[in-house]
Amino acid sequence: MDRATAASMFVLIQEAGERLKQQKATAKIRTQLQNKLARLFAKQGIAFTKQLKMYLQTQPNLTQNDIKSLLEITTIDDNAAQFIQRIVTQAVKIGAEELLKQFEFEASVFSLENPRAVTYLENYGADFVTAIDKTTRDRLRVLLARSTSSGWAYSRLATTIHKTFGEFSTKRSKRIAVHEIGSAYQKGNLIVAQELAAQGVQIEKSWLTRKDDKVDEHCTSNEAAGWIDVNDPFPSGAMRPLDHVGCRCVAMYRRKTK
Ligand SMILES: [Zn+2]
Repeated sequence: MDRATAASMFVLIQEAGERLKQQKATAKIRTQLQNKLARLFAKQGIAFTKQLKMYLQTQPNLTQNDIKSLLEITTIDDNAAQFIQRIVTQAVKIGAEELLKQFEFEASVFSLENPRAVTYLENYGADFVTAIDKTTRDRLRVLLARSTSSGWAYSRLATTIHKTFGEFSTKRSKRIAVHEIGSAYQKGNLIVAQELAAQGVQIEKSWLTRKDDKVDEHCTSNEAAGWIDVNDPFPSGAMRPLDHVGCRCVAMYRRKTK
């Protein structure tokens, strides 16, 4: 094997290791978040269907008020929101600790009282829950409208709604968990890298895609930028992955060599 081949193999192994590190470190909380969301959506589905049936037993068409109170059912309550917040906080912490480990600092260097972490987590919780609720409602609103305009029988509407919540509690809950945990972990990485940079450690970062044909063009250009200063944005404007829904990228960090 020549030196160039060996070097590019080393990079590939390093990249795979980076991804694996994140997957392993967050596997437990990712499953916890996914299960929590799956249960939440399943519960919402049962309540929603029950209420819908009640309305339609007394009159054939839903009023605007009926729709409004039906959609209320899909609100994530405060307890669940707090649970989600705790899990995401842990993901930030794990991301922070993993980076400290890589740079051979004690985990105790990082605390969740770190201002960058506080700002992120304060804004995070409410926005996240609002976004989930909004997507749920948008999907259901479309279904209800289609049902009315096409004159669906109740049974057809019920089946479609059942299917929708089924998809929520399997695929969607997984998608959300993977995205949110990945994003929080990456944020934890960045917080520590920026903190170390502020303390005089010269750090640079690079963007790592999956290098397949599903990679978004933003991410491709971020990766093409190579190693950049930790405080500079990537070409897409993002400071770190994830860049978009479905993004599977991670960032790598290293000390500047000169
Ligand atoms: Zn990406």
